[in-house]
Amino acid sequence: MIHDIFPKVFHNEYRSFEPDEESSIIIFGKDEMLVKQQEENIHFPRFRELSLPAGGLKYLFSIDMQKFFLLMPGDSALKSEDTDHREDFYPEGYLFIPVGRFRDCKPRYKSFAAITAFHVYRWYADNRFCGRCGKIMYSDDKERLLRCPECGNLIYPRISPAVIVGIVDKNRILLTRYAGREYRNYSLVAGFAEIGESLEQTVEREVMEEVGLKVKDIRYYKSQPWSFSGTLLSGFFADLDGNDIITLDEEELSEATWFDREEISVTDDGISLTREMIRAFKENSY
Ligand SMILES: [Zn+2]
Repeated sequence: MIHDIFPKVFHNEYRSFEPDEESSIIIFGKDEMLVKQQEENIHFPRFRELSLPAGGLKYLFSIDMQKFFLLMPGDSALKSEDTDHREDFYPEGYLFIPVGRFRDCKPRYKSFAAITAFHVYRWYADNRFCGRCGKIMYSDDKERLLRCPECGNLIYPRISPAVIVGIVDKNRILLTRYAGREYRNYSLVAGFAEIGESLEQTVEREVMEEVGLKVKDIRYYKSQPWSFSGTLLSGFFADLDGNDIITLDEEELSEATWFDREEISVTDDGISLTREMIRAFKENSY
């Protein structure tokens, strides 16, 4: 999966580091990011390549010993809104690339770094002002949180929990296709946790809402951070309880079909929990 970057190690402990010459600097435009591409490999600019004051940079995380910093939203030193002149600011060979493309760039750990940085960036960008009193928010020194100096409001990074469900009926699993989305491959029933419910209750509710089925013996499989949507996904398998007649939520799904293990043609892309779960069922290894 995209967060499996072994043998590299992700360190997300919050620190107030200053960048050194070799630190990687993550710079976002709207939904795009500044990188140099060499075939499918991506490179982030190093601090020494940019003429930036360290003040507008916020430490993000490290991968092994490599430190990553974010150019904070609102700091326009490099990402001028004036796109005609933006090129003047960044070093030669670097371009802004849409964030969606970082799903499977190489090396893997840089894809993971890019989307994880995007998750943090969006949180900072969406919370520059206090939602309670309107004053400018400040970063805390000790934790990754934003603090309002006026009313004391604290805002922690937003991580939305969601579930993915492999609905199993003996040798069959229910595969779905989303309605109205670019992603056309088979997937599994999925949805966000609502306020006041456990993840197991989310599983039961989403399965009923999307395909009209009851499930039992809900068992946890694995989880995955999915930073494109700011989500923490939890994967579960559950057995069909009762009849197998599907009532499709046509706003969410265009298709839901039972597949025997031997009929499954979806392969594991090594990126998403969904695809790993489908493979695990196919190989009976879950
Ligand atoms: Zn406030």
